[in-house]
Amino acid sequence: MHVSLEELDKKAQAVLEQYEGVDISAKQRTQIPLQDMPAQDPQIRVTNMEEVALGYTENQVRAEALRCLQCKNKPCIKGCPVGIDIPAFIAEAAKGEHAKALSIIKESSSLPAICGRVCPQESQCQLYCTVGKVLKDVEQSVSIGRIERYVSDYGREHQCETMPTVAAETGKKVAVVGSGPAGISAAMDLRREGHTVVMFEALHKAGGVLVYGIPEFRLPKKIVEHELQNLKDMGVTIRRNYLVGKTRKISDIMGKDGFDAVFIGSGAGLPRFLGVPGENYVGVFSANEYLTRSNLMKAYAVGEALTPLFDSHKVVVFGGGNVAMDAARTAKRLGAEEVTIIYRRTDLEMPARREEVAHAKEEGIKFLYLHAPLQVTADEHGKVNGVELIECELGEPDASGRRSPVEIPGSEKIFACDTVIIAIGNSSNPLIKATTDEIEVNRWGNFVVNEDTCETTLKGVYAGGDIVLGAATVILAMGQGRKAAKAMNEYLLTK
Ligand code: FAD
Ligand code: SF4
Ligand code: SF4
Repeated sequence: MHVSLEELDKKAQAVLEQYEGVDISAKQRTQIPLQDMPAQDPQIRVTNMEEVALGYTENQVRAEALRCLQCKNKPCIKGCPVGIDIPAFIAEAAKGEHAKALSIIKESSSLPAICGRVCPQESQCQLYCTVGKVLKDVEQSVSIGRIERYVSDYGREHQCETMPTVAAETGKKVAVVGSGPAGISAAMDLRREGHTVVMFEALHKAGGVLVYGIPEFRLPKKIVEHELQNLKDMGVTIRRNYLVGKTRKISDIMGKDGFDAVFIGSGAGLPRFLGVPGENYVGVFSANEYLTRSNLMKAYAVGEALTPLFDSHKVVVFGGGNVAMDAARTAKRLGAEEVTIIYRRTDLEMPARREEVAHAKEEGIKFLYLHAPLQVTADEHGKVNGVELIECELGEPDASGRRSPVEIPGSEKIFACDTVIIAIGNSSNPLIKATTDEIEVNRWGNFVVNEDTCETTLKGVYAGGDIVLGAATVILAMGQGRKAAKAMNEYLLTK
């Protein structure tokens, strides 16, 4: 049942009246109820593109912060890839000192408003939280991400975030390829050290997956724009519509163009396909294309956007990760009457975040488990009219540790639909590798780097994020951008 923001705020106020200013025992802290995230009513939100999660109120953030035990050994920090001092910032949030809380976070993270929203906290910081362990339920852990989101939004909205200072100019010039979280973090840290930083982005808008992949209803674009503006205010130049490998090669950038070092954060934007007959029919999309049309080209703004919107009624999405959830929920908002996610395993093996699956179900997305595609079918005009599926059962665990789907002979069936979206993963784009022989890649096409410095096999060229890790997470990309920037700074100062 949907609970309104006002009701949730009232409950938080009652907690504060009982506990604030009182010397609370650890046991009492674990008894304070977890503060639920206020959200748009599912019936309403499927009709708009606005953010689903509304963010904590001031009462809620303080009540949630009171649940933190301020553990001496700080176990939550080891779950955060960038090592934010979590208990310290929560202690400030509990006092209502949000600007101080934010400055603690910013010592380790350059994109907290984004990570507070999209980090898979339940498998990172919150997985290690003592409160979750005491209550034997990770979902009962202190909501670290939600508190982080609140203080970051507070800083932005009240204009009280501390801007990074820029050291005296060093005269060194660095190129950053790609403007996703890896590139943004590297650029920010390199500029902080006083180097000239130019960022090259292939698309007409900067931000990487944060802008073209993750939908507005999960991550409002104004938040990413704010971070990019901070970068520009620090003096970073962003050149868009600049495809490194075509517009200029890495050898030109390091040669005639006079750059002293390069960071490559070009992501994993090459979609994988099913490899079944019929994938070229009209109405089949990769999730990348589908989401880019909607997010970046604003196809949902019918009559205003130049990008046409495919008229879908019955949509099928193949996949079980966050990208599949985003594509399905976008299709619903774009007007499809029925959207079904088809997955080869069961919901237990699905890699998507539990919260995203729950939101999708609330919005009426259907799930068909243990089915795999055999082919896409079409009418005489080549327009999709269905998919042929085969039922599966779970067999032995595969290399990923999950039980593998085994097809059941004779269980073939046709599932009618007019749109198919494929969301089964992405690989790295081969363009930079194809034009730079010296850069070594592994068998998946990801750049091979020194684990400590993120340097590639080409001297002075560093890389991080999805181009190294394969499709991973925002916080891991950000962490690699920062690690590379530190090593690049040392390289530049001794060059
Ligand atoms: P990207 O964000 O991919 O940015 C790379 C940039 O480089 C792009 O802008 C691209 O246009 C540009 N580029 C590529 N080649 C060139 C070139 N040759 N020249 C110039 N520019 C180039 N992670 C989470 O943590 N939580 C989530 O909820 C989540 N949801 C996701 C939902 C979707 C739909 C997708 C696709 C991914 C999601 N991820 C999520 C994963 C996360 O977004 C990525 O791991 C992260 O963005 C990787 O950052 P990056 O900087 O390495 O690359
Ligand atoms: Fe947790 Fe992510 Fe914030 Fe780290 S950045 S504390 S993992 S939400
Ligand atoms: Fe607080 Fe949980 Fe970290 Fe302990 S583990 S300091 S309770 S957030």
